[in-house]
Amino acid sequence: MSLTIVRLYHDLLGTYGDQGNAEILVHRARARNLEVDLVEVTPGMAIPRSGDIYLLGGGEDGPQSAALEMIKVDGGLNYAAAGGATVLAICAGFQIIGESLPDSTGKTTSGLGLVDAHTAYDSSPRSVGELVIQPSRGGLPVLTGFENHQGLTRLGADMPPLGLVRSGIGNGFNNQEGVWHGNVFGSYMHGPVLARNPELADAVLQCAIGPMQAFEDPLAQAFAKERRITLGGITTSS
Ligand code: GLN
Repeated sequence: MSLTIVRLYHDLLGTYGDQGNAEILVHRARARNLEVDLVEVTPGMAIPRSGDIYLLGGGEDGPQSAALEMIKVDGGLNYAAAGGATVLAICAGFQIIGESLPDSTGKTTSGLGLVDAHTAYDSSPRSVGELVIQPSRGGLPVLTGFENHQGLTRLGADMPPLGLVRSGIGNGFNNQEGVWHGNVFGSYMHGPVLARNPELADAVLQCAIGPMQAFEDPLAQAFAKERRITLGGITTSS
């Protein structure tokens, strides 16, 4: 079986190292003997419509607006997501996949509408620091990452968050962090989040390919555990 991972505009949406999420997925998929094709979409290129997993990262307001406009005009990401493709969108990317968000001038603009989420800027201080969350489902352990965003994101009443905040800010409403709706994941966690949380990487892969054999990666597991213990006083890997 082969897997196509599409990384969108990482020159625009890669300020915080989120492009590393693609490398983690490639590594963990190859460890399961999958053939993996990583497609790098740069401005001006058409977004493939038949990818299995689409990745969006964080970025500053200007590049975020530019990326959003290109993705809207292209239409390929919405097409793929409507067909069940898996999406992992971080920070600016998370805001982009919602219903509305501020553009680079601060004016509200429409997002891609993949999830019911509305982002706005208010006068609160920027949310910067380590973030620890307890996921709501999927058997996922406590997840860690770091956040750095001005926008706060309110989920619709029926939108499940990725988890609830144990420490940090996250979405800024109802103690929620991120979103996990069908095969679409959004989060404010940088890290890259999949490097810091291999279990989340496997949850993303599983959405695309179904059940997988276990994969022991001692370095990844040790890194995840160290962050969980240091940030949350959590003494087991879960
Ligand atoms: N520009 C957005 C905000 O500040 C996203 C920032 C980011 O991706 N880190 O809310």
